[in-house]
Amino acid sequence: MKHRVLMQIGLALTVLLGFADSAEAADKVKAVASFSILGDMISQVGGDRVEVVTLVGPDGDAHVFSPTPADAKTLAGADVFFVNGLGFEGWLQRLEKASGFKGRVVVTSDGVKPLTMEEEGHHHGGEDHAHADHAKGHDDDEDDEEDEEEVDDPHAWQDLANGKIYVGNIRDGLIAADPEGRATYEANAANYLERLAKEDAAVRAALATLPEARRKIITSHDAFNYFGMAYGLEIVAPEGVSTESEASAKDVAKIIRQIKADKIPAVFVENITDRRLLDQIARETGAKIGGTLYSDALSGPDGPAPTYLDMFRHNVGALTAALSS
Ligand code: ZN
Repeated sequence: MKHRVLMQIGLALTVLLGFADSAEAADKVKAVASFSILGDMISQVGGDRVEVVTLVGPDGDAHVFSPTPADAKTLAGADVFFVNGLGFEGWLQRLEKASGFKGRVVVTSDGVKPLTMEEEGHHHGGEDHAHADHAKGHDDDEDDEEDEEEVDDPHAWQDLANGKIYVGNIRDGLIAADPEGRATYEANAANYLERLAKEDAAVRAALATLPEARRKIITSHDAFNYFGMAYGLEIVAPEGVSTESEASAKDVAKIIRQIKADKIPAVFVENITDRRLLDQIARETGAKIGGTLYSDALSGPDGPAPTYLDMFRHNVGALTAALSS
């Protein structure tokens, strides 16, 4: 009971703090970001002119997020709302409706060439599906599900070339919301785009040193297809492109066989998902745990990946350390 009261006080504070830190804040453009990676990108482009509130914070899982009334209130007070799109935020419409937000929504992945995935019956609220899958109880090798469908892979930010498209959309969205700030947003974006290009070159240089045979890893959910495609790594995951549906026993068995057959050297846990499944897979195959990859969220300010660019530095460091030899 006490706990609940504290939570309510916490929520009330969140609402109060949402957009009203100081008198100065009143003049700023109020931007809401659906998740932490966008939050950082908007701060980089917006600089001092923009106040950013992030809905799904550090280490949070935006796939399964449930917006609260406080989130609706935050959005209601916003000038512009930045989202990923590509089906990442399944809760958007619910939130927009609850908030009555009629402002500008910027889909930051607009212009990205999406990758698609075959997903087994990607119904929202995937738990039912996972259970149904167990209940079927047969363990075929093949993906013989008749209910497979093609879905967009939302994790486009994991390729820095796409990150540049996001930054362009954020710059244009901020200019539309605050035309007076155009020069600032253009200068900040140009500077940031340069840093993204440098990081892209650094990622390529670091991963180029990896032996061909060791360019294959396991993560918990399919968050790194854009990364693998851009930087020459093959990434296999027991869960699909959303964390909504749990991996079935069949998926796990298949991965374990693949790790053994392909001699995949390392499995990586993710900052947003439970690591027990990966620990089990590592135990059963003898593959080592290569560390933690930041997939769908940044770390907190004191963690190893507090910004979008830090996320790449951390992930590439973990990959090269585990796969070098
Ligand atoms: Zn994800």
